[in-house]
Amino acid sequence: MNDDSMDIAWCKCNPPQRPPPQSGVRVAVGIGPVRERWILVQIMEKVCSTALNKSGIPGMDYCLNPYTGCGHACAYCYASFMKRFCNISERWGSFVQVKVNFADRLESQLRRASPGRVMLSSVTDPYQPVEEQYRLTRSCLERLAEREMTVSILTKSDLVLRDLSLLKQLPRVEVGFTITVADDDTASILEPGATPPGRRFQAMATLAEAGIATWVFIAPVLPGLGDTEGNLTAILKKAAQSGAREVEYDSLNFYPSAVANLKHLFKQHWPRLLPGFLADCADPGLYRDQLRHLAADLWPTYGYTC
Ligand code: SF4
Repeated sequence: MNDDSMDIAWCKCNPPQRPPPQSGVRVAVGIGPVRERWILVQIMEKVCSTALNKSGIPGMDYCLNPYTGCGHACAYCYASFMKRFCNISERWGSFVQVKVNFADRLESQLRRASPGRVMLSSVTDPYQPVEEQYRLTRSCLERLAEREMTVSILTKSDLVLRDLSLLKQLPRVEVGFTITVADDDTASILEPGATPPGRRFQAMATLAEAGIATWVFIAPVLPGLGDTEGNLTAILKKAAQSGAREVEYDSLNFYPSAVANLKHLFKQHWPRLLPGFLADCADPGLYRDQLRHLAADLWPTYGYTC
């Protein structure tokens, strides 16, 4: 099989017939159903040379990205710049590169690594649908459980519950759930491949009850849609009910590709909100200031600081 050959198969949860791992092999497979419909993701297996990378994110020493690409296919995804590094022309959200030797590389690197805080993940979702088959995130957690690392997981999936017993074995771990909108239907337009927010909150409550530290990341806050008092209040309320220890937020990164994708969705689904969205995009600095004031008003009501 070479780079151009493609074996397409629709399947529910069985792994594709995988060839021996080698860089550039492509296998296409249907992942789903996600909310009663099928999401098609093209899977490409590859061999990686490093797994544990230094992180530039404040508070994080390392990051682990077992996959390149993400089947959650969020319209606002900032990570689409990763396409440049893997020489892929397909639409972001339609493919996932699976680094099949990732856990082995991690194990090898951990032998020499200083203790620190490890983020899973920074440019992909560690519990996106392909994780159900490939279990790379789980394999990483198994390796990390033997080390003095602090693990910080950030996801939009309740698949993290599969690893609850493993999470309990980690010396220090926290699980963050990204929530942009509280409403499941709106989220299904913005984040078509991700677990609906209602199920994310349920997963958070289950983890919190099990003693795992959890938090909510409202990111990106979407102008005109995610920044309404109604949406932010609904998220804060559910976060408190679900046992989240903190709620943080981040404004939309006004990357041209993200703005263009969102503009398209606003035109299609929320045309009356489009003028407000465009006005906020025109002055990101002013928008962030307004958001800061709104957050300062709302967060304390639910016992959070921002
Ligand atoms: S879950 Fe994160 S990495 Fe995946 S598509 Fe959405 S924003 Fe991008």
